[in-house]
Amino acid sequence: LSPEPAPDGNPLARARELRDQLWFHNERYYNDDAPVISDGQYDALMQELRDLEAEHPEVRSASSPTQLIGGSASDRFPQVQHPIPMLSLANAFSRDDLEAWHRRVTDLLDGQTFRMVAELKIDGLAVRLVYREGAFVLGATRGNGQTGEDVSRNLREVESIPHALHGDFPADLEVRGEVYLPLDSFQRMNEERARNGEPLYANPRNTGAGTIRQLDPEVTRSRNMQIWTYSFNDAGEASMPAGHWAALERLRSYGFRINPENSVFNTVDEVCEFYDDMLARRHDWNYEADGVVVKVDSLSQQNSLGFAGREPRWAIAYKFPAERATTHLLHIDINV
Ligand code: NAD
Repeated sequence: LSPEPAPDGNPLARARELRDQLWFHNERYYNDDAPVISDGQYDALMQELRDLEAEHPEVRSASSPTQLIGGSASDRFPQVQHPIPMLSLANAFSRDDLEAWHRRVTDLLDGQTFRMVAELKIDGLAVRLVYREGAFVLGATRGNGQTGEDVSRNLREVESIPHALHGDFPADLEVRGEVYLPLDSFQRMNEERARNGEPLYANPRNTGAGTIRQLDPEVTRSRNMQIWTYSFNDAGEASMPAGHWAALERLRSYGFRINPENSVFNTVDEVCEFYDDMLARRHDWNYEADGVVVKVDSLSQQNSLGFAGREPRWAIAYKFPAERATTHLLHIDINV
């Protein structure tokens, strides 16, 4: 599958080609945990398809990868329905894109001002954790957004996922977060493989996702997987705080791990300064982040903004520029 344009320049033919390529790469990335192109290359194909669909309404399709979540639930695990779909995020690749998003939100809110929470976009595996009366009862992958995989046995071996909650927790709690393989664990695993003459794992994101989607919880335990959590829902108990920032504080009080870089801002300038700072420090953490997620803080403003297709209108992922896929291998002395 090559990213060559259709020879006759026919937009419908090119859209079909791009869709086939994107579904192929979704399958490799989400289901096999083994992508064959870089995220930057994938994002470029997706952007081309988005542009094509925007310019040529006649080629749009409800079953396009621009409209659907790319994964699916494999039959290795019991399937789990998500009562609230697990969706994706719109992307921004430049300050102009972020400003355009800010203007759109301001217009949709009839000119109201709004506070924003900016968080690192953790490059891991999205999971949903379910707690009943404070006890962890179920953990699932996103899958196709509606149906995911029950990976509870592996998630119980993720050290920073609490088995029992603290504080004044609601009886029914659903938490979302990103599970990841820490970079030092990834490096240790590859050092060992190099010593044994085995092929190296390609990157921490897919090795981490593959760890949660394999069947032996002992393997998960040995890899020191971790989580950063970023939202919760309490099944309508009316105890939700008024804003996302306060919700993160609430999650922390229940015993969840909240990323310390999260910050709250009023202006696009401030968000861009934060983005530049995070980009400059992107190699300082023991995990990978591929951008900054900017979210409208007020939950009532979020509710009035709602969703467009597979994306909330109240959030955007401002991506870091793509890096060469070999970066991680550079840290490894393959002669050890
Ligand atoms: P996304 O990664 O663009 O955004 C949505 C996800 O971000 C959420 O599901 C959540 O898991 C995650 N996230 C991380 N930190 C978050 C935070 N602080 N707050 C909220 N959400 C947070 O959407 P996607 O559909 O999961 O993935 C698309 C991306 O995956 C592409 O842009 C590409 O980079 C990569 N991809 C690559 C290939 C490939 O072949 N290389 C194939 C498919 C997808």
